[in-house]
Order: sequence, then C-alpha cells, then structure tokens
Amino acid sequence: MAAVGKPFGAMSAVEIHAGLAAKDFSAAELTDSVLDRIRRRDEKVHAFLEVTVDAAKAQAAHIDAAIASGAFAQMGPLAGVPVAYKDNMNMTGTHTTCSSNMLQNYVSPYTCTPVQRTLDAGMIPLGKLNMDEFAFGSSTETSAFGPTCNPWGLTHVPGGSSGGSAAAVAAGLVPLSLGSDTGGSIRQPASFCGVVGVKPTYGVVSRYGIVAFGSSLDQVGPFARTVEDAAQLLNAISGHDPLDCTSQPVGVDFAANLAEGVRGMRIGIVPAFMEAKGLTPEVKAKVQEAADKLQAQGAEIVEVQLPNAQAAMSAYYVLGPCEAFSNLARFDSVRYGYCDPGHADLGSQYEASRSKGFGDEARRRIMLGSYLLSAGVYDKYYYPAQQIRTLITKDYSDAFQKVDCILAPVAPRTAFEFGEVTDPTEMYLSDMFTISINIAGNGGMSMPVGLGADTGLPVGVQLISAAFRDQDMLRVAAALEREYGPACVAPDFASEGGDAE
Ligand code: GLN
Repeated sequence: MAAVGKPFGAMSAVEIHAGLAAKDFSAAELTDSVLDRIRRRDEKVHAFLEVTVDAAKAQAAHIDAAIASGAFAQMGPLAGVPVAYKDNMNMTGTHTTCSSNMLQNYVSPYTCTPVQRTLDAGMIPLGKLNMDEFAFGSSTETSAFGPTCNPWGLTHVPGGSSGGSAAAVAAGLVPLSLGSDTGGSIRQPASFCGVVGVKPTYGVVSRYGIVAFGSSLDQVGPFARTVEDAAQLLNAISGHDPLDCTSQPVGVDFAANLAEGVRGMRIGIVPAFMEAKGLTPEVKAKVQEAADKLQAQGAEIVEVQLPNAQAAMSAYYVLGPCEAFSNLARFDSVRYGYCDPGHADLGSQYEASRSKGFGDEARRRIMLGSYLLSAGVYDKYYYPAQQIRTLITKDYSDAFQKVDCILAPVAPRTAFEFGEVTDPTEMYLSDMFTISINIAGNGGMSMPVGLGADTGLPVGVQLISAAFRDQDMLRVAAALEREYGPACVAPDFASEGGDAE
C-alpha cells in the first residue's frame, strides 16, 4: 500500500514518523507493506539473512496502541520507523551468524546495546543483514551465504563488509539500517550504494553485544538516505553504556545544526589523498566538485597534511589481524561455534571445526594475527604499528587545529563487478582512504554526490571530523545534500509494484 503521495520505499524515516503521527497510515499497514516489499524485492538483492516478521509485527502493534492512546506524541522522532541490522549484532531470538558457517546455528540469547536502543526508540526491527564473513572484506563476497548485489547494478558488489546494510537502504527495503566499521565497512559500501553512511568517533556508540573484530577499531553507525535520518539514528544509538567501558557520554543532538550551513567553516583537503595512485579520475572529479560547491557556499578550503597516513594500511593489517585473532579464539567448537563431529581428541576437534567453520579470508586473518603476535615477531610488527597509530592520531589532531572538517575520497573507485577483484591485497586497497580514521578514532562518513562520469555508478565523498565533533561532518554533509539532493532509491527499485520493474 502506498502512503499519501509517496510509496513507503521512498519515504525517509522522518516522513514515515510524520505519516504515522498524522494517521495517514498505521504501523501495521506500514510493516505489512515493508515485509511484502522485502519478500518481493530482496530475491534480487539478497540483503537480508533473516526477516524478523514476528518482532516487527509485535512492535507495530505496540506503536499502533501508542498512536491510539496518544502516547505516540511523547515518543522520539524514530518511533514507528523500520530498521534492520548487520548480522554481527546480537538480538534476542535471532540468528547472529556474522555470515559464517561457524555461527550458522547460533541464536542470540541477548540483545546488543545499539539494537536495544533502536527498540527503545520505538523502531520496527525488520531483520538481519548480510555482510562479509566476520566483517573481513570489502564486497560481501566472503559471506558464507552468498553475496549481496548492488541495487544500482546487480552484477556489481555493494561494497563491504556492511554490504547488506547499504544495499537494503539503497533498494528502499528499509529507510535505516545499522552497520559496523573497522577499516571502512560503513563508508565504502555507503559510497558504492549511493547512501549516507556514518562511522562515528570511537566511543560514541557502545560495542556491547557486537561480535568483535578489532575491538580498538570497531564502531557501529547508521545508513540512511538523508543526513537528518542518519543523525536521528545516531542520536538514538549513541551515548554512554555501562556495559562498554570505551563508550562515552555524548550529550549532543547530532541533528541540531544541520541547517546552519558551512559559511565560515574551514574544510581541509589532503593533497596526498587527491594525488594517490589508484584514485580514479571520476572519483577525484567528484571530490573536487564537492569542494567547489562548499567553497561557493562560503566555506574556506584549506590544504592539510597527514604525513603518516600512508602508513595506515600497513599498521591496520598488523593491528586488525592481531585483534581479530584474539577475538575469534572464542569460536573453538566448545564454547561457541560449529563443532565437527566424531573426533576422539580435543586437538583434532578444534582443528577440524575451525578449518571447516571459517572461510578463506577469516583463516587468512587468523593466521596472520597468530604469526604477528608470536614471540620474536611481536616486537618487529605490533610495536611499530602501535607507534604509527600514535603518529597518525597526532597528524589528525594537528590537522584539526587548522580545519573543522576534512573532505576526501571514500574509496578509490566506484563499485566493481563480482569476481573482478580477486587479489586480497588489491581488495585491501578499497579502504586506503578510510582506514587511517579508524586508526586515529575520529568520525568519518560517506555522503553521496551523484554518479561517476565514467561508470554511471554512485560516488560518495568522505567527510572526516575531529574526535567527538561528529556534528561538524554531519553539518557539512547537510550542506552537500542541499546541492545534490537526498539520496534516492536505486532506479530499478524505485517503483512500488511487482518485482524490479
Ligand atoms: N575492508 C576492511 C577489512 O577487510 C575493513 C573491514 C571493516 O571495516 N569491517 O579489514
């Protein structure tokens, strides 16, 4: 069923909430329509691994009761809005597989903090979304359950590792989703799928109940088609949580200053990023165009240097695998994970279960981490990587003495085709512009700025904020949104009827 004037698939979260408040439609009608759309359209995209029909309907009934009693008016701005979650987020009673055979049959006994906060905000949970196995990857091709397709071109990858989260929003299956970002996994798929994706400053969102990859790098954040929707979802999930000692009190309304514009703001451009080998001309042109538009709106464009950022990739592929190796040790077939049957001794059970349960990329990271943390090797790699981390963090804090926000590419290119990138090192380069932000801990986001001149596929530009100043990058993103318009549903998914008309 279509809402007044606009199909549900194309409505923003803010519009859906307003429609419910105005009684244009009920939460039950909305939910039935969204479930129907997922049933019809997700066959082509494969964003969802599990659809939580009962949880969605129960929450819709709760919202309709609140509308009837008048209590809805006191609920927050996302009450009644559909949302879905990357499958590394625990939600009671759902499978949390991390797209791995290792956790194929794992059912969450509890709910992670970010998901719980969306439920507390009255959002309607639609289900769990596909990803690269354990969040290792940039294409969703490492999912044990098959890849997700990019709604802008089904032969193209949606990016990764939060590919399902980006594709679900780009296909108009849900207006909002959550992903996680350890080296670029929110921003790169957001760029590939033409939606807004925000990796908040480390500590803004609790990691409690998210299956850990790199605990010092992981951060959960929103995908949306408008900046305001993303800011509202960040408002809902952020803030201190006693269950995660790295989470911080935030006390900021991320949606408060979106309309302020960029006049007087200083926006940094990093020459080394713009001249980087591998950056395609169409992406570079879009970053330049965005800079020009911000300048025309009254921002001052300033060159800033990040002298150590070129070492970020090397540091990440030491720190990331070391942390992943430690975190994934719990999947030992006894406490958690797939257990290969029929082994007489524990050693061979461990070996067989872990060999069969993990896919190639997960095994590669585990072996790398195990080697890097071994005696004699640790000092040569882990230590210097930590030193580089300190230097990169200092680079960013120096840069943010001069500017309020940095504008950069997200990924060197637009979405590639399935099977096109097979060399792991080439795949790792997808994150060459995003990884240093996880190393330093700052906020970073991808903002869609239209289609590339050569490929005709979506391009995002990256906005980077000083630590705990995420509102600054959102404010710049809102200024760009006024130039480029809000992200739209991918053309083949824009109509409400049949399948992919
Ligand atoms: N693509 C990067 C990797 O494979 C980042 C992944 C992520 O952010 N989860 O490690």
